[in-house]
Order: sequence, then structure tokens, then C-alpha cells
Amino acid sequence: MQKDFELLASDQYSKARRGRLKTAHGMIDTPAFMPVGTQGSVKGVSPRELRELNAQIILGNTYHLFVRPGLDVIKHFGGLHNFMSWDGPILTDSGGFQIFSLAKLRKIADEGVEFQNHIDGARAFISPEVAMEIQAALGSDIAMVLDECVPYPCEYDYAARSAEMTTRWAKRCKRWKQENTQRSTPNAQRRTEEETVSQLSTINSQLLFGIVQGGTFQDLRRASAQAIVELDFDGYAIGGESVGEPEEEMMRAVESAEPSVPADKPRYAMGLGTPPQLLEMVARGMDMFDCVLPTRLARNGTAFTSTGTLNLKNSEFALDKRPIEENCACSACREFTRGYIRHLIKAEEILGLRLITLHNLHSYLNLMSRARTEIERGTFDQFRKAFVAQYETRDAAEIE
Ligand SMILES: [Zn+2]
Repeated sequence: MQKDFELLASDQYSKARRGRLKTAHGMIDTPAFMPVGTQGSVKGVSPRELRELNAQIILGNTYHLFVRPGLDVIKHFGGLHNFMSWDGPILTDSGGFQIFSLAKLRKIADEGVEFQNHIDGARAFISPEVAMEIQAALGSDIAMVLDECVPYPCEYDYAARSAEMTTRWAKRCKRWKQENTQRSTPNAQRRTEEETVSQLSTINSQLLFGIVQGGTFQDLRRASAQAIVELDFDGYAIGGESVGEPEEEMMRAVESAEPSVPADKPRYAMGLGTPPQLLEMVARGMDMFDCVLPTRLARNGTAFTSTGTLNLKNSEFALDKRPIEENCACSACREFTRGYIRHLIKAEEILGLRLITLHNLHSYLNLMSRARTEIERGTFDQFRKAFVAQYETRDAAEIE
């Protein structure tokens, strides 16, 4: 069996790992941060700029793309890579998280989820099999199983039943992949030959990650991890985090699941977090991350630096000639002052938002690159402790 994930180094003092994951559109060095391209676009940033930022992989949201522009449009353009002009790896989520958080739910049952989308209220049905079909049509390099993400707080019984359903859904996703990988061309009469060939090559090369659920309950997290690992996926995600629970619950959920997840597979902590949280998750054996904070908070003027966040709207920056962060190599910091960017944000100029977004993405991507180097050198644990100790969240209310 070919090996997609290779462990290159492990930290002696924590569970941090330095690895490399092979996908159909290139290698991903881990720990890795994945900028979020919700609607087929990382907000305000072009694929050329993403390459300049050394983004290795981006995330596409299945639910958003399914609702708008719809699969027919994306198929017409030959898949998501071609549609958005990004030739690097793409991970797509299953759509589950957005169905549960954005859409108007009609019915959740074992067969799947019936919902009305948040754009025009049209009804749709997504089952584990449909989620796999959509992700095959998008042509992502890494697909995720359909799961139910329970809210916080959540009753024990509901979290238990939900995690069991997520396991049954994961099994069906896995079966769908097996059946569609093995198939040669029996369905050719239903599709054009070209479409069948491209779909098949996508399905064959697409990695499939399972998702561990279980809410904030340690025994449920453990049981969910064991059940999902038994199904044997290409990687494992810890889902249902960063849904409003306290940070210690978030850490505990990962700590409960991690020992059951095999060391030779990539681990993805979904939807996290602040820079210190990412390093804490790396120290707990996580390899991949996605988070909307760097792009979302840029919109209200918040910049991430290695010593904490800055809100560039504050009047203290009006005459400040320094860059957002001293010694930062990003294009915003090389050319522009805090005072100028503050002016752009106050005047609601699009450039202001773009410059902070570029800096924030650089900051997250650079943090993971630094973590990789520190793990290789055997100094990750000192680095993490020093970083977390000096990091200050100045506008705590904004980091939610
Ligand atoms: Zn910068």
C-alpha cells in the first residue's frame, strides 16, 4: 500500500510532529495552516497571492459551493481547481457544519439531512453518499466524511447518539468511496465518457478523512475516536471544536481522542484557533488547521502579531510610522505604515482590509513554518512556551 503521510521528526518533550502529506496536487508540510476559501475564494486574496504567501493547501466549503454557484457550474468549469485557478491542494469539508449552523433544518435522520439553504430557501437533501458525490465533483484532494457537529453546551445523551450516527455516516462514506474506486466504467451510459474518466481519477486519488465527535465528554471522544479509526481512513479530524466551549474543554477533547488515533496518519483539528491555540494543538499531536480568524478579524481592523493582536482602528496608531509588525516579511509590512492602514480601514477602503488580511495569513502560515523548523531542531517545546507566554490578546472581546 502506498504511504501518503510520512513522519519526518517528532518532538521529545511534547507530542508535536513534523510530517509530509502527499496529495494529487502536491505535498503538504505539516504542521500546516489551511486558509479558508469559503465561497471558492480566500476573502480578498488571489491564488497568486496565496502562492506568494506559501500557502500549501486551502479549504473550500462544500455547503456554500453547493448552494452557490451550484455543482453544474463548477462541473462545467472542470472542478474547483480550474474554476478558481488554484492548482495546489484543496481540502473540502462535507458541508455538515454549515448545514447545521446556517441552513434552516427540516429533518435530521439516519438517511441524511433535509434542509433549506440560507440564500434562497431552496430545499435540498444531503446524505453521506451525496456529500461524497459533491466532493468528487468539486475534485478536492482531501474529502471529509459527513458528520453532525453538536452545539455547546450539549446533553450527554444527545452527544452520544449523535457521535454514533456520525460513525454510521462515516462507514457509508467509506463504502461509497470503495464502491466508486473499484468500479471501472459500468455507469458510462449515464455520463459522458470524459466526465466518467475525470470523476474516477478524482475519486481514486482523493484522500478521505474521518471525523471524531463526542462533544465535551471524554469517554464519548475516546469511543468515537476508536470507532472512526476502526474504519481506517487516510487521516483523522477532531470535529465539533471551537463552538463556544472554554479553551480547556477544547484541549481536553483533543487529548481524549488523540491516543486512539494512529501516529502514522495526519490529524486535523477543525476550525481552530488563535495562534497560541494552534501551537498548543501542535504540542498535542495535531498536524493540520483551518481557521477564519485571520481573514474575518481583518475586516474589523484586527492584525495578528507574534506578541498578540492589534486593532488598527485605535487612535494610538494614527501617526504610527512602523509597519504592522517589525521584521515581518509580508508585502503589507514591507511597504505600508500602521498610520496609513488605519486610515484605509477608517475610510472603509478595500485596500486596508486586503493589507491586514495578507499580513494575518502570512502570520499564521509563518507560525506553522516556524513550528516545523523548531520541531526539526528539537526546540519546539521552548518555542511554544515562550510564544504563548508573551502573547497578549488586547481586544479579548473580538476573539470569539
Ligand atoms: Zn506583515
